[in-house]
Amino acid sequence: MTTYPHLLSPLTIGDLTLRNRVVMGSMHTGLEDKPWDMDKLAAYFAERARGEVGLIITGGYAPNKRGWLKPLAAEMTTRLQAMRHERVTAAVHDEGGAIAMQILHAGRYGYHPLSVSASAKKSPITPFKPSALSTRGVDRTATDFAKSVELAKKAGYDAVEIMGSEGYLINQFLAARTNDRSDAWGGTAAKRMRLPVEIVRRSRELVGDGFPIIYRISLLDLVEGGQTWDEVVELAGELEQAGVTVFNTGVGWHEARVPTIITQVPRGAWRSATARLKGVTSVPVCASNRISSPEMGEDILASGGADLISMARPLLADAAFVAKARAGRADEINTCIACNQACLDHVFVNKKASCLVNPRAGRETELILLPTRTRKAVAVVGAGPAGLAAAVNAAERGFAVTLFEQTPTLGGQFRLAMQIPGKEDFAETLRYYTRRLEVLDVDVQLSTHATPEHLAAFDHTIIATGVVPRMPAIEGIDHAKSVSYADVLSGKVTVGRRVAVVGAGGIGVDVSHFLTHDPNDTDEDWYAHWGVGDPALHPGGLTERKPRSTVREVTLVQRKTTPIGIGLGKTSGWAHRAVLKQSGVTQISGAAYDRIDDAGLHLTVDGEQRLIECDHVVICAGQESVRDLYDAVGGHLIGGADVAAELDAKRAILQATELVAAL
Ligand code: NAP
Ligand code: SF4
Repeated sequence: MTTYPHLLSPLTIGDLTLRNRVVMGSMHTGLEDKPWDMDKLAAYFAERARGEVGLIITGGYAPNKRGWLKPLAAEMTTRLQAMRHERVTAAVHDEGGAIAMQILHAGRYGYHPLSVSASAKKSPITPFKPSALSTRGVDRTATDFAKSVELAKKAGYDAVEIMGSEGYLINQFLAARTNDRSDAWGGTAAKRMRLPVEIVRRSRELVGDGFPIIYRISLLDLVEGGQTWDEVVELAGELEQAGVTVFNTGVGWHEARVPTIITQVPRGAWRSATARLKGVTSVPVCASNRISSPEMGEDILASGGADLISMARPLLADAAFVAKARAGRADEINTCIACNQACLDHVFVNKKASCLVNPRAGRETELILLPTRTRKAVAVVGAGPAGLAAAVNAAERGFAVTLFEQTPTLGGQFRLAMQIPGKEDFAETLRYYTRRLEVLDVDVQLSTHATPEHLAAFDHTIIATGVVPRMPAIEGIDHAKSVSYADVLSGKVTVGRRVAVVGAGGIGVDVSHFLTHDPNDTDEDWYAHWGVGDPALHPGGLTERKPRSTVREVTLVQRKTTPIGIGLGKTSGWAHRAVLKQSGVTQISGAAYDRIDDAGLHLTVDGEQRLIECDHVVICAGQESVRDLYDAVGGHLIGGADVAAELDAKRAILQATELVAAL
């Protein structure tokens, strides 16, 4: 008897029987674009198939050059390209898995001058203005999609997914916002729908009856001028007639100013929209976005809200997600924390996708943790992200590991990060490491300040003693008003109603959110703050935003003159900056700090002296490495103890994993 009977039950779609209901959703990794990366791509998918996922969907492949995501991006247009993919499909089949190819035309999101769209309207997130496709051009595009579908089938793919959401070309045809054509492909809602319907109809003609065609449908566009709910329902009906086998679901165009997948989005935020679609179609429906645990997947399926569960990033974070759930080891799943730092943020700057909590993702052929031949003794000092990753990976390789931590708890800076509203998922990483330490029988010595004597008998010593907050040389830094972010987030200090925050890096921004956030806010308030409404009443599901209630007056200050928060993650920074604005945080750039005294924080800005009257000044001015032990005993230095500047968990966990792989 399994804990997840719905999630782990098989499902037949067309001629294909899936071994369970877990779909690895499409995500571009950067391995799709070059022929020489094909073996890496095959290894990446094979590892997920070995982990028992029901169906894998590849990143998007363009049906023609105009549909590229960027110059020379992945496409599926020739027999030769299809033959290269046989290595990928065979690798997945060898592991008992099934794989679908996604066909994606970027439309005006194409990052190149050849981009096309329904109308010549530039998107707010790309520099290139697209040309409007001619009437014949639209017709050819529909045929190109169908040919790509046929090639995917020839390459051994078990299914295809047509990308109709997230604001790409098909979505651009569907929405009045981007389609003001007056020919047969625009104008009325029925004509705007013609392109996806033709694509599915022509694809079905080429591949026959049983081959599964998945269509990713946009439930909520979350942009002005987006589709009405009636249009979505009508489209679903037309597509069903045209031969769609499964509806996967999507929410929000890339240009939408509502976050849809980052940590601060409530878990399962979009399940009710999926359930609504399921109520109006007889085709199986797949739920997606912000589903990261087997419990959530099971709950959605058991409630009748979907037939399949798509998870993209959670399968990067743990390739064995399904196998662990099936074996009753769900507490050992390395859960995706929806940070985007190593996956989507990489893809958007043309780097290969990986995962913050699992740096082996996308590096399956390079970063290999082989069993050790000698069970040497390894001491790891410090149980922040770097130390935890080192201890767990070393134990997995078969070393005898002792982990020393001077505080009574595991987690280091991560324990502080998880106090930030919307970053509660970070606790999952600590749950994962805690459980793995237990299973791997690591000797964990909490509340133990390691000394050279403790370490004398070990074969390898890994020093991950972390950082302390930097307290800069501002006059009055020792004043009772002046406190470090660590003291505030750990609950050691409760700050007053008026607060100045010094330093506007990632932590200064997070602390400002923490200080202003109303703890009484519910998930329902989250929708209201971002203006997400009932799509049956508001086209695209977008409505007026409800102002946030804030519990403190916060002034966030930095010395740089650049806009605050500009260095934050590509895919999440805009949302963090929007929260600051919505929370009424006063932002001051280009400041020189004069002093802290009973009145508050004294600054000079543009040659003028200013006083921020406040009860507390919270210092978020970066960190300094803690290296006393390393200076005394040497060994391997990792994480913040190695380099404190711009330290983050991504670098810490990667460095620890690479070190342990080479021990
Ligand atoms: P950080 O990003 O390095 O920012 C610290 C800020 O303090 C600097 O931007 C600097 O700004 C200021 N500062 C540095 N030295 C100072 C001094 N002597 N006096 C006054 N101000 C000084 O470090 P962090 O905010 O502590 O974050 C640590 C790491 O965690 C970073 O890598 C960050 O990206 C990551 N993180 C990311 C996020 C996120 O993406 N949401 C959230 C949290 C943390 P000025 O010089 O302009 O004043
Ligand atoms: Fe999830 Fe972050 Fe890993 Fe991306 S980098 S898969 S968001 S944990």
